[in-house]
Amino acid sequence: MRTVRTVAELRSALAPARRDGLAIGLVPTMGALHEGHLSLIRRAAQECDLVVVSLFVNPAQFNERADLDRYPRREREDAALAARAGAELLFAPAVEEVYPPGFATSVEVLGGLAERLEGVSRGAEHFRGVATVVTKLLCMALPDVAYFGQKDAQQVLVIRRLVADLNLPVRVQALPTVREPDGLAMSSRNALLSPAERERARSLSAGLRAASELAADGERATEALLGAVREKMAELDVEPEYAALVDPDTLEPVERLTETALLAIAARIGDVRLIDNEILDPTTTTTTTPTHPGEAIATCSA
Ligand code: AMP
Repeated sequence: MRTVRTVAELRSALAPARRDGLAIGLVPTMGALHEGHLSLIRRAAQECDLVVVSLFVNPAQFNERADLDRYPRREREDAALAARAGAELLFAPAVEEVYPPGFATSVEVLGGLAERLEGVSRGAEHFRGVATVVTKLLCMALPDVAYFGQKDAQQVLVIRRLVADLNLPVRVQALPTVREPDGLAMSSRNALLSPAERERARSLSAGLRAASELAADGERATEALLGAVREKMAELDVEPEYAALVDPDTLEPVERLTETALLAIAARIGDVRLIDNEILDPTTTTTTTPTHPGEAIATCSA
């Protein structure tokens, strides 16, 4: 696998494949790769002829300087992992390559989609930063398919919106959340948790599971479902920053679980902010007791 750092190098590395009509897949990441990222790369390698992984810790989407400073960076290990998962190219640009002097354009998805949930907690600049960098990466690599994780469900909606609105010629493929055996959604930020915090971080997936089980037993009231999330999380002394049951396309709050809905939560464990979500489906009526706690959630969100 080759690492390229400039847009010019990326374009010339991709030119032969494009000329030959090969399918190019792009997996945008901020690095510190884990199984969640690798699942996207592996799927891209199955579906496309050539896979580019981008590795760029995008300062524009960080609303807290400390979060940006301590974000884990390990390019050498990432390159080896990406290659093993099937990537041919690693695009790892410097900040100045992405935002050269004079850079003055941003992409903003307006309205509720970017303003709710993470938009409330992290401010408008977060999704403006995400939308701008993803648009730029799509224009730089011009992939046929771009891969994203359902773990960042709101991000997927924002990206689908901008791809449609700007007529970008790319298919957006979202893949299920990959979890640790105890249910914790994999995240590069998990590496920043102390052992005690790691234990409390279980509260997010445990809260989601409690609500899923209640929904499977027939509970339809949002208040009761969110109550179950809060109660479960409190057992590990964690209070969610938000817990919301929303329409999975518009992110508007729903009062009752009458159709498929997105249950989204965020919580701070020490200094580390984590998010997770689960699709609740009112037609699922059986509560399966998983032998492996992570599996039930992964299956539900698939
Ligand atoms: P990040 O490096 O955190 O910006 O993530 C890069 C891509 O990987 C995004 O599309 C994320 O949604 C996706 N991703 C992160 N964590 C997971 C996970 N646990 N399972 C599946 N996809 C993930």
